[in-house]
Amino acid sequence: MATDPRTALVLFSGGQDSTVCLAWALERFARVETLGFDYGQRHRIELDCRLTVRAELARQFPHWGARLGEDHLLDLSLLGQISDTALTADRAIELQANGLPNTFVPGRNLLFLGFAATLAYRRSASVLVGGMCETDYSGYPDCRDNTLKALQVALSLGLDTPMTLETPLMFLTKADTWALSQQLGGDALNALIAEHTHTCYLGERGQRHPWGHGCGHCPACALRARGHAEWLARGTA
Ligand code: ZN
Repeated sequence: MATDPRTALVLFSGGQDSTVCLAWALERFARVETLGFDYGQRHRIELDCRLTVRAELARQFPHWGARLGEDHLLDLSLLGQISDTALTADRAIELQANGLPNTFVPGRNLLFLGFAATLAYRRSASVLVGGMCETDYSGYPDCRDNTLKALQVALSLGLDTPMTLETPLMFLTKADTWALSQQLGGDALNALIAEHTHTCYLGERGQRHPWGHGCGHCPACALRARGHAEWLARGTA
């Protein structure tokens, strides 16, 4: 594949989805930087995983390491002040009356992408890459394709420069995401993802399952485990 000369900024949380997005971007773009948000997550483990994953990607895939630029971490602790959810407060995960789980931080991706675009502009990056996904069972409205297409237009107009939003996982199932990382980096990338990325809502590293570390019971662990099992069942692993 010909290298795209643009610089991409990847929204990178240290979880499985954003790690696959980072690998996807490193395969395509001449230069790739990463951006994480510290928004008072109940569990800091995700932020620690980010640096390990970046280091392991660069070490195990030197051609990607050569393209991997700066990491940025933005303090968005104010998000904790204006939202009241199970990800930022000490509450149990449950389904709300509107059908969304209370892990939903209203409009989180709109805020994240707005800040990301401002940073991208300063860094001369014109592509934002995020792991938003419509097939995610949670149905977060700010992960939907039309929401992000509208935002791409708004950001490009508001900054008066083309700002492309890439969402390579938008229509993939969790099994498809394992297949994509296999395609991008083979067994080595999937082993890296299983070992070093973090998904568990409860912040547990815990036992090492075939799909990675985690409590094994929370919605995030259950989703990751089910996707991994479906991918294995295809017999292409
Ligand atoms: Zn869990």
